Amino acid sequence: MLSVTEAEAIIFNLVQPLNNQYDTEIVDLFAADSRILASVVTSQLDFPHWDNSAMDGYAVRYADVQQATQQQPAILEIIEEIPAGYQPQSTIQKGQAARIFTGAVMPAGADTVIMQEYTQREENRVLILTPPTKPQEFVRQRAAYYQSGTQLLPPGIMLHGSEIAVLATAQCTQVSVYRRPRVAIFSTGNELVAPDQPLQPGQIVDSNQYALAALVRQSGGEPLILGIVPDEPGVLEKAIAYAVSNADIVISSGGVSVGDYDYVEQIVKFLEGKIHIQAVAMKPGKPLTVATFRNQVIYFGLPGNPASTLVTFWRFVQPTIKKLSGLVEGWQPKFIKASTRQELRSDGKRETYIWGKLDLQNGIYKFHLAGGNQSSGNLINLAQTNALAVLSVGQTLVSPGEKVQVLLN
Ligand code: AMP
Ligand code: MG
Repeated sequence: MLSVTEAEAIIFNLVQPLNNQYDTEIVDLFAADSRILASVVTSQLDFPHWDNSAMDGYAVRYADVQQATQQQPAILEIIEEIPAGYQPQSTIQKGQAARIFTGAVMPAGADTVIMQEYTQREENRVLILTPPTKPQEFVRQRAAYYQSGTQLLPPGIMLHGSEIAVLATAQCTQVSVYRRPRVAIFSTGNELVAPDQPLQPGQIVDSNQYALAALVRQSGGEPLILGIVPDEPGVLEKAIAYAVSNADIVISSGGVSVGDYDYVEQIVKFLEGKIHIQAVAMKPGKPLTVATFRNQVIYFGLPGNPASTLVTFWRFVQPTIKKLSGLVEGWQPKFIKASTRQELRSDGKRETYIWGKLDLQNGIYKFHLAGGNQSSGNLINLAQTNALAVLSVGQTLVSPGEKVQVLLN
């Protein structure tokens, strides 16, 4: 059986990121958060756009004020007042100054700003009491941060507030981003009913489809919900064929084990899917079907137990969606070392994933085991968890206070 590391390598190798020319759409800036930039953004403007003041104070000629002291202040005539957003009208000559405010355009002739705390105002004159330390002091120069033609943002990054601010400043109001990967989702099982249906004896409410839809959205994908599919080869074949022709990734849950009603792998093969993975040495989540179709669609047949579905999603599917979505960095699963608060146990036979909560206390990550039964059918204590402790094969015990590898999800 494949190890988790082997399975991961196979899966990540199968992922072809979306095409940066064909798989894109244009969004405006208010819709750009969490989208992935598809092309390089270049500034058409210098930034700052013009020389401007970094302080409230006086725009002066350095030569006029460099010798100023408390005892012998430089005395300058104020010829203009320049608020932010205003175009200066005059040129500062020897012995002159302009009143200026933060962000306002520097007047011609002036090269330095004296902050108002170092001055004394006397009607239309200003006394400079402290000299500047250097010419250009408190002047933000045109193009000091970047020039027109500079590449501001590379493709493949996720846009958030700070990147969106850069785009707005460069007047890029329409931005080309990758479309969201389309992820088809369905549940398999004769026993399943939708949450809004009355429950007959022997039936189980389908929770996986709802969990997966939320997780797909969180990972940057667009879920395509296909419903509950019974364990009937003909119906399953139609569902898989439809999913494969309408999505980039297909996720089904259930029907991948060795039971008589587990048809997923058989149908995938019948539809000419190439099987790459049939099982992985992990707990929960041993039965796992991963296949690709000729149109490059990746098929994940996840085990149906609700906890197994979630764990295998976090471990393999989430990074797949992120890599496919065009993200260049940071799509990989994120592991950290944390100190466990409770004892963690495994039989040591398979890599074991134990859910709990991670928090930061006095600069150290602590892992708190979720209370209750960690069986793969028991969902309730998965709620409000944010991490999975990982015990490797052969590791049977991690005692309180010891370090453990933790997967963030
Ligand atoms: P399977 O992987 O099909 O053998 O299913 C394993 C177990 O998970 C069975 O007890 C199923 O009833 C349960 N199960 C399968 N699919 C779902 C689902 N979509 N939602 C909740 N439980 C499920
Ligand atoms: Mg089943």
